[in-house]
Amino acid sequence: MNEVLERIAAALGPGAVQTGADAQGAAVDWRRRYFGRPLALVRPASTAEVAAAMRICAHTGTAVVPQGGNTGLCGGATPDASGRQIVLSLARMNRVRELDLLNGALTVEAGCTLAAVQQAALEAGRLFPLSLAAEGTAQIGGNLSTNAGGTAVLRYGNARELTLGLEVVLASGEVWDGLRGLRKDNTGYDLKQLFIGAEGTLGVITAAVLKLHPLPRGRVAAIAALQVAQQALPLFAFAQERLGPRLTGFELFSDFCLELVLKHFPGSVAPFAARHAQYVLIEVSDLDSERAAGAALEDLLAQALQDALIMDAAVSASLAQFQALWALRDNISEAQAREGPNIKHDVSIPISRMAEYIEAAGEAMARAFPGSRKVVFGHIGDGNLHYNVSPPEGADPAAFARDTAAVNRVVHDCVARFGGSISAEHGLGQYKNVEIARYKSALELELMRAVKRALDPQGIMNPGKVLA
Ligand code: FAD
Ligand code: ZN
Repeated sequence: MNEVLERIAAALGPGAVQTGADAQGAAVDWRRRYFGRPLALVRPASTAEVAAAMRICAHTGTAVVPQGGNTGLCGGATPDASGRQIVLSLARMNRVRELDLLNGALTVEAGCTLAAVQQAALEAGRLFPLSLAAEGTAQIGGNLSTNAGGTAVLRYGNARELTLGLEVVLASGEVWDGLRGLRKDNTGYDLKQLFIGAEGTLGVITAAVLKLHPLPRGRVAAIAALQVAQQALPLFAFAQERLGPRLTGFELFSDFCLELVLKHFPGSVAPFAARHAQYVLIEVSDLDSERAAGAALEDLLAQALQDALIMDAAVSASLAQFQALWALRDNISEAQAREGPNIKHDVSIPISRMAEYIEAAGEAMARAFPGSRKVVFGHIGDGNLHYNVSPPEGADPAAFARDTAAVNRVVHDCVARFGGSISAEHGLGQYKNVEIARYKSALELELMRAVKRALDPQGIMNPGKVLA
């Protein structure tokens, strides 16, 4: 065994260091776009063990790639092919450390899956609102490191806004104990925010204090039909004004998205007898009852119909219908994948300009890649669109995939024109680490590099991710 691994095995126990097939399994990303070759997979069981491993890595200049559930979509948790990087898995650190109900806070270790955190909150009669399709596998450490979003950001914020405190093992192996459960703390720079969204490039998150919310007793969903995407914007403003914090989800998807779901998920049912150009899924939750949530949503939709803001609406009347409506939205990504390979974008635009963006990007793509099929859907209430592009019908997907950089350029240059961001949720990883240099100013990039140098002077934390 290599000397670095021998030292780590001596500190953590031999079972904590895996090589060969076990390690190789951790060296491929979820979408199977990136294939690395790690020195080993290291699986510490405590903060002290993470610190011991990091001290050895700092001493020997060994690069470390932190890994949670490995569900990330930009290759952030995949090592390079040098055979010299260690994948550090947090999977064994999966304990709930503390529940403080009066403070509305839950302290968990980084390797808890998001579903386990949600379950722990539920058992305490509270809600941990972060929710995304990969929640059974993704870990809270990975969620915080990517500042994950999902379908309830509109109401509760993203991972950044759900975090009160962090414990982080630094590149040096020192442990920063920032596990504070404070809602107000103005004692200088907010260090935890540096590590949130840093994609493992500044340190290893080992535990977090998370914010809990009251558990709504009623949740109701509806799908509203629109003639054009533009209609979604006044409808959103109206829904916010009428419903305030009861408006929990506001998601847009096109008829082509629905067509793909109906095709690839047999048993799915279209919400209306007639087809419409665009749809909005609206979720309303109410702390007291489902009846109150339903009444608020029905009122909203009745008024919207009267004002011609929408063409039609279908409201869920049972849990099964609620789930079926959400499935039409949730299954879009998978339906597109079943249709064939596609090029994904995860952009954000000021909400007021989203419809304009969809039109402008559509025109630019039609000019540059005639016949390309746009699967456009997302969290319109957060200004976040998944602007995915499939090749023209019958075209060779491999040839289209070779044009990825050119497709990205068209979509992202259009984002820049509208004052948007090229990653709203998924992060940069090794997928957009070069691309980002085109859209951030030299000053902003240098400030980011200065932070990186300050926290990781040797450059051993997830090198080659976020910044190329
Ligand atoms: P990983 O993939 O293991 O790692 C992600 C990054 O974080 C890597 O750079 C890694 O090095 C770093 N990292 C992981 N753990 C730590 C740690 N403890 N300390 C420091 N760095 C760490 N994302 C959304 O935001 N919204 C969605 O709605 C959404 N839906 C998804 C649906 C599906 C089906 C899939 C497959 C993915 C989806 N994602 C979504 C992306 C992904 O699930 C999230 O980015 C998730 O937060 C990643 O968590 P993970 O534990 O799998 O992290
Ligand atoms: Zn999303």
